[in-house]
Amino acid sequence: MQTNFLPEQLADPDVAESEKILRKCVHCGFCTATCPTYVTLGNELDSPRGRIYLIKDMLENGRPADKEIVTHIDRCLSCLACMTTCPSGVNYMHLVDHARAHIQETYKRPLLDRLIRAMLAFVLPYPRRFRAALKLAKLGKPFIGLFEKIPALKPLGAMLKLAPASIPAASPMALPGVHAGQGAKRGRVAILTGCAQSVLDPGINDTTISLLTRLGIEVVVPPAEGCCGALVHHMGREEAALASARQNVDAWTRAVEQGGLDAIIVTASGCGTTIKDYGFMLRLDPAYADKAARVSALAKDVTEYLAAIDLPEPMRKPGTIVAYHSACSMQHGQKITRQPKELLAKAGFIVREPREGHLCCGSAGTYNIMQSEISARLRDRKVKNIVATGASVVATGNIGCITQIASAASMPVVHTIKLLDWAYGGPRPDGVAEDGLIAAE
Ligand code: SF4
Ligand code: SF4
Repeated sequence: MQTNFLPEQLADPDVAESEKILRKCVHCGFCTATCPTYVTLGNELDSPRGRIYLIKDMLENGRPADKEIVTHIDRCLSCLACMTTCPSGVNYMHLVDHARAHIQETYKRPLLDRLIRAMLAFVLPYPRRFRAALKLAKLGKPFIGLFEKIPALKPLGAMLKLAPASIPAASPMALPGVHAGQGAKRGRVAILTGCAQSVLDPGINDTTISLLTRLGIEVVVPPAEGCCGALVHHMGREEAALASARQNVDAWTRAVEQGGLDAIIVTASGCGTTIKDYGFMLRLDPAYADKAARVSALAKDVTEYLAAIDLPEPMRKPGTIVAYHSACSMQHGQKITRQPKELLAKAGFIVREPREGHLCCGSAGTYNIMQSEISARLRDRKVKNIVATGASVVATGNIGCITQIASAASMPVVHTIKLLDWAYGGPRPDGVAEDGLIAAE
């Protein structure tokens, strides 16, 4: 694509980066076929190509964002299916991140929209605040119907609907410290305990620590690590996102200096995509650029890590039919496609892949709160395809997808690590039936 930026515009490194990305796009439109919002809404402006044109026009003319561009960028899930499809290597992720930051700087949203976004940014990345908010949400549940009738309050209704009826107790395993590996030491990793996931399902990290330590791997929970920053990053709140990134880079760099790390284990693929991008996000900060690149190189999804080590034979082969839902951040963001399925199959599960696996389930960070109608359409489409597999349980590697799919599916939806842990001697995940148990060889 031809671009017409002025030299003074290109002096801004973010604009220069976006210009490089724009020039790679050849307008072929292949990406439209796999874009969930285009597939759902059928509007070119809700396709990657349409959004790329809108972003180009805004940046090239140095214009503040307007209502039209905000509408279409807000509808983008950041699922990155377009990046998997694009034959020209257009880095849509960095382009839309830049557009979102530009929107945040130059566009004044309606008051309620601003308040809801500010509240999400204040609450979700902080486990204590999020836990308190979930308790309060119980009081708001009777008003869901009312909120859903008032367009500006729909996000509140969606939020209350998603809030779980009960909140698990916080896990002591997530406190800073070291969990020694059993037997001969095979490695040393740090684990990101994260924010929303640690409140909604602390068992995911507990299970990961338990399985890794049983395999002889020492797991460090470094002091002072926090939210990865993805939630605010996708809202265009760059300073907040970079502050989270720096805090984590410092925490993990200390852990590296204190005993070395083979990997930084991430159990939510949305977070993994962001941490693997810290090197880019902090590239302009001389004090952090190198450290951030090192951290990004160390970040591994837990299935990516397990697939690279020698696993023993499983202790039981459950024989359960599992629908594997590949989160967008897993398959498009991190390009991790085969490892979770291969691990499940090796552990004795029968793995089925739902049709249209490339399409987002509609979770996408806070998307199911801010764009609840499109999100619900995508979720229902996803659940229909999952049900058609005949599976009795859904496995996936991202808490957002777990919450989203579970809100409409009748079968249990669990993190992949819980099924793997079960096969390797851990407890049976809640709600998962033992049917199909086959004798381990
Ligand atoms: S990130 Fe997803 S929703 Fe956004 S343009 Fe790309 S494919 Fe469409
Ligand atoms: S597939 Fe790639 S090159 Fe083609 S229109 Fe989409 S972003 Fe541009």
